[in-house]
Amino acid sequence: MSQITIALSKGRIFEETKPLLAAAGIIPAEDPESSRKLIIGTNREDVRLLIVRATDVPTYVQNGGADLGIAGKDVLYEHGGEGLYQPLDLQIAKCRMMVAVHKDVDYAASVRRGARLKVATKYVKIAREHFAEKGMHVDLIKLYGSMELAPLVGLADAIVDLVSTGGTLRANNLVAVEDIMPISSRLVVNQASLKLKRAQIQPIIDAFAAVVSKGN
Ligand code: ATP
Ligand code: MG
Repeated sequence: MSQITIALSKGRIFEETKPLLAAAGIIPAEDPESSRKLIIGTNREDVRLLIVRATDVPTYVQNGGADLGIAGKDVLYEHGGEGLYQPLDLQIAKCRMMVAVHKDVDYAASVRRGARLKVATKYVKIAREHFAEKGMHVDLIKLYGSMELAPLVGLADAIVDLVSTGGTLRANNLVAVEDIMPISSRLVVNQASLKLKRAQIQPIIDAFAAVVSKGN
């Protein structure tokens, strides 16, 4: 039997993937939050888990460093998804991609005036397409985290970021003003692996699909 490698990020994706793995008969041997290991074994001799940065999951799977992976649509969109088979929306790690501004800013008025806004984001591709569709000219500022800070110190007029409860926005005096798209995580599969290891991979896809169709 060949080895099946699944790339996951720790944190919410790992936590929300555990029940899916369990449905496929896969139990991680260690908790990545407390272990320093980047390769984690499972109860199944033929299955191992790789712990990688969320944004690196598509790269590992695309290049065959992993056969399967789980990544947010945000990450897949920015990556482009070339060479990845994406059979399933897993309905986990759900949130929304939104535009937010400082609560004292009249965003609608700026848009009406045709003001050229500075927009800070980690999601440059999503932001560029969103504002292009609206016919707005914006200057994009690429950040790697803590986007909420940018409008507070005058680095940007707006941010494009993921929002779930809105708690982080509120805590930083920001409000969401536009909803760009709903986000959830998808299963991604290396196309060659699917052909060569179908007998092992298809049952995992099917077990995940059964959990998803039950509404998690
Ligand atoms: P890092 O925190 O290591 O910089 P990251 O922010 O991309 O990386 P996570 O915060 O674990 O990593 O997010 C992983 C994925 O979970 C994201 O790509 C997104 O799809 C989803 N996600 C992010 N924030 C939320 C949220 N607040 N609620 C639900 N899902 C989220
Ligand atoms: Mg994060």
